[in-house]
Amino acid sequence: MLNHLKILWHQGKQFIPDVRSVEVPGIFRGRPIISKVTVDGAALAAICPTKAIGLSPVSIDFGRCTFCGECSLKFPEKIQFTKDYRIASNVRERLIVKEGEEGRISFDEEEIRKEIKSLFGRSLKLRQVSAGGDNSCELELNAANNVQFDMSRFGIDFVASPRHADGVVITGPITKNMAKALEICYEAIPEPKIVVLVGTDAISGGIFEDSDQLDRSFLKNHKVDLYIPGNPAHPLTIINGLLDLTGR
Ligand code: SF4
Repeated sequence: MLNHLKILWHQGKQFIPDVRSVEVPGIFRGRPIISKVTVDGAALAAICPTKAIGLSPVSIDFGRCTFCGECSLKFPEKIQFTKDYRIASNVRERLIVKEGEEGRISFDEEEIRKEIKSLFGRSLKLRQVSAGGDNSCELELNAANNVQFDMSRFGIDFVASPRHADGVVITGPITKNMAKALEICYEAIPEPKIVVLVGTDAISGGIFEDSDQLDRSFLKNHKVDLYIPGNPAHPLTIINGLLDLTGR
C-alpha cells in the first residue's frame, strides 16, 4: 500500500486536467496568423505543395494545409503559426483563415443537428475507418485515449463494431479500394449517426487530391458533421472538436 502511494506521489497527475487550455510543448503548428504585410503573392502561393494558400486576400485553407511550415519559413513577416490547437469546425469554409483574422476557429451552432447534442452529449461511441490512411491520424486517434489525453473520461470511445457506434471517423484520402467498405460501415451504423473527418487527407485529399486512385463520392452523398484538421491531427484538436460538436 505504502509503495503504491509512493508511486502515485512520484508520478503525479498523468492526465491533462483541462484539455481546453493547455500549452502544447515543443514544435507544434496550430492556427496560422496572416499579417497584412505586402509580399510577392505568386511566390508565396507557389511554395505550397497542396494549393492551400489563396490570394486576394491571402488565405490559408488548413483543410488542405499539410502544416509543413514552408510558407512561414520563407515569409515569416507574412505567416506565423500559433499553438492554438482548437481548429476544428462543423463548417468546411471556417477552416480558411484570411489575412488580418486572428480569432479562434468557430462552430456554426445553427448547423449542428439537435440530436447530436441531446443524444451524444454525454456518451459518444465511434467506429474508425482508415480509408487509405498512412497511420498517422490513426495513431493520434489512439493517443487521444491514452493516459495523458484520456478522451474516454468525456464518454467518447472507439468501438469495434459499427452496430455499436454513433458515428464514423474517417482518416485517409478515401481510396477506391476502401470506398465500398466505408459505405458498408456507414450503412451498418444505426440512425442518428455522425460523420467526422480527421486530418488533411480526409478533408481535402491532401497531397493525393489529384490521384485517380481516390473515390471521394461518399462525401458527396453524406453530410459531414465535423472537420478536424491536422497532418496528422493533434489529440487535443480531436478531443476539443468532438466536445464542441456535442456541446460540452
Ligand atoms: S504550411 Fe500549409 S499553407 Fe504553408 S506551405 Fe505548408 S502546406 Fe502550404
